[in-house]
Order: sequence, then structure tokens, then C-alpha cells
Amino acid sequence: MRVLVTGGAGYIGSHTLVPLLRAGHEVLVYDNYATSSPEALARVRQLANRDLAVVEGDIRDLALLDRTFASFRPDAVIHFAGLKAVGESHSQPLEYYAQNIAGSITLLQCMAQNGCTQIVFSSSATVYGEPDYLPYDEHHPLRPQSPYGRSKLMIETIIRDWTSANAGARAILLRYFNPVGAHPSGRIGEDPLGTPNNLMPYIAQVAIGRREALLVHGDDYDTRDGTGERDYIHVEDLARAHLAALDSLDRIDGCEAINVGTGQSATVLEMVAAFERASGRSVPYRIGPRRPGDVARMCADVAKARALMGWQAELGLDAMCSATWQWQSRNPTGYAPEVERD
Ligand code: NAD
Ligand code: UDP
Repeated sequence: MRVLVTGGAGYIGSHTLVPLLRAGHEVLVYDNYATSSPEALARVRQLANRDLAVVEGDIRDLALLDRTFASFRPDAVIHFAGLKAVGESHSQPLEYYAQNIAGSITLLQCMAQNGCTQIVFSSSATVYGEPDYLPYDEHHPLRPQSPYGRSKLMIETIIRDWTSANAGARAILLRYFNPVGAHPSGRIGEDPLGTPNNLMPYIAQVAIGRREALLVHGDDYDTRDGTGERDYIHVEDLARAHLAALDSLDRIDGCEAINVGTGQSATVLEMVAAFERASGRSVPYRIGPRRPGDVARMCADVAKARALMGWQAELGLDAMCSATWQWQSRNPTGYAPEVERD
């Protein structure tokens, strides 16, 4: 297949490119490097031992995107590009709606203009909001609590309407739970800008000595040890889910939302302990107040992913933590040379 990958230089995109190239697909990455580095693509080429095409551009640039579609003629799109920081989306809602929603509309317009009818979209479990029941299945009510989450839900709706209006158009909306981990080689991984918002990169930076201690956001939740529980999924399993989604597009009718998680959940303190085991380092932490907007527990019902795509997660917490540690210890300052970072 010829696959156009928006946001392919980012964390999840780069990990998906490796198996995509290894499976023999022809790939073009379209990315503006807003939150990523071209170095990730150089390392993807080495890991896959294959080349890929790259266009540096913004998904809101209709003219450039249209020219890219016309010359590459993709059979399908995997759409990762967008902004994803929940906290930042509260302070910059227009930026989030402009990049995520306007960018996705531009992308769908270019697909329509160039006869491309298949898309796999990076959605998020955050579209569910406060749980009525757990695990969340795909029929759970959708009540996102942040501009970021609402942008994901709006894009889901737009894509669904687009598939209804265009006979033959097909879309899979992958609702990721909590992606963590790295390629086992330690060559590519998650490289957040500035202070990490998410748990796993924060723990990894404490273990390597870049930060003093983890601040645990609350230990008075109704969970096993009082700290927040999440369904962490290894980015390598998530990468495979995208290949399974591409293979499934011609077997579905219209648009399907599918949870991508493990069906298991771990608390913050369980993650700390697993990381200490995997790294042999200690991860000091302090207990702080709850983070506004956090839910106590999230966990995926993964039956639909198995039934529709024949996919299920295979890797557990130990593999997630040891891959993260490989990446963090080999690249203490991510893709940037050490002297240029804090
Ligand atoms: P990331 O920030 O590492 O990657 C996003 C990529 O998109 C980057 O390479 C960035 O440069 C590019 N990009 C951003 N805006 C762009 C624009 N306007 N035009 C062109 N390129 C642009 O993030 P990620 O963790 O790899 O996430 C990928 C997707 O998955 C995002 O859509 C995100 O919302 C979604 N998602 C991520 C998580 C997570 O925890 N990482 C969870 C659920 C959903
Ligand atoms: N968390 C924490 N300290 C941090 C970052 C996260 O205690 O510095 C907790 C957070 O409250 C949640 C879990 O770790 O219970 C996962 O948080 P993350 O931001 O990674 O994912 P999300 O909350 O978006 O699912």
C-alpha cells in the first residue's frame, strides 16, 4: 500500500513507521516538526533499513498538502499530526481547534480531491470522560473534559460524517489509552518538549537524574493504593495496531471507533516500582494534591479490537519500562545533543 503518514516524526508515528516499512508499504511522512525532530526519521530509516519520502509542512497548508497527495497518490492515510497536551489546550483552545480540527478538515479535503478514501485516525480514550462504568467499551457516552479531548471528539464526528457522505470511504478511529515505552533498540522513543506532563517520561527523567522527584498527583482515589490507575499500552503494540487497522479497512463498513489498550490497569506507585525494577535506579517521589480533571481509573474493553482487527496487546509493564529505560539511558536528552538541553 502507499501510505501517507501525517505526524510521522512524532512519538507514536515514528514507532509505527518501522513495522510499516518492514511490511513493505511505500511511505510518505508529512510533518512540520512542531513537536518532533527529523532525527527520529533518520533513525527509523536505519531501524527499518529502508528509505521513506518526507515532506515538511503543516496539515493546514491546503496547497502543499494537495500537491503532496497529487504526486504521492496514497491509498490510505494514517493521521497522527496534531497537538496533544491536555493542560496547554485549556490555556490555548483556539490553537488546539485550529491545528487539530482545521488541519483534519484540510486533510479530508485533500483526500477527497485526490480520490483517497481510507484513513486511520489517532483518537484518544480521553473522549470518554468521567466513567459511567469500566472498562470503557466503544458505546460508552462521550464527554471529553478538555479542549484537546473535545477536538478529538469533533474530528471523530467529522470523519464519521465524511464516510457517511462518500460511498466507499472508510475510517478507523483508534482510541488510544496510555501509550508508553519505546523501540527495544533504544534508538527511538518519547522526547517531550520541556517538562513532561505524562507519568512515564517524568519517571524516566527522574531515574536518569534530570529531575529530582516525581510528584504523585493524589493518593486518595478509590483505587488499589489510592493513586490514579491507567491502562498503559506499549507503543510497539500500538504500532502493530495501526498495521492491523490498515489491513482491516476493506473489511469494515464506513467508520469504526476501536479502543486500543491492554484491558489491564496499573497505579502510579505500581509504575514507579516497575520502573525501578527495570532500570535498577531509584525513583524518589512525593505525594501532592490531585491534578484537576483527572479521573481515578481508566481501562479499556478490548474485545472489539480483537474481533474486528484480530489485534491484541502482547507486552506488559516490565517490557514497557525496560524499553523506556533503554531509550532514556542511551539518549539522556532525547534527540537533541546534551549541551543544548536543560
Ligand atoms: P507527538 O507530538 O510526538 O507527534 C505529533 C506529530 O505531529 C509531531 O511530529 C508534530 O511535529 C506533528 N504535527 C503537529 N502539528 C502539526 C501540523 N499542524 N502539521 C503537521 N504536523 C504536525 O505526539 P504523539 O504522542 O506521537 O501523538 C500522535 C497522535 O496520537 C496525536 O494526534 C495525539 O493526539 C494522539 N494521541 C496520543 C496519545 C499519547 O499519550 N501520546 C494518547 C492518545 C492520542
Ligand atoms: N501522574 C502523576 N504525576 C505526574 C504525571 C502523572 O502522578 O507527574 C499520574 C496522573 O495523575 C494519572 C497517571 O499518572 O493518574 C497518568 O497520567 P498521564 O498524564 O500520563 O496520563 P492521563 O492522565 O492523561 O491518562
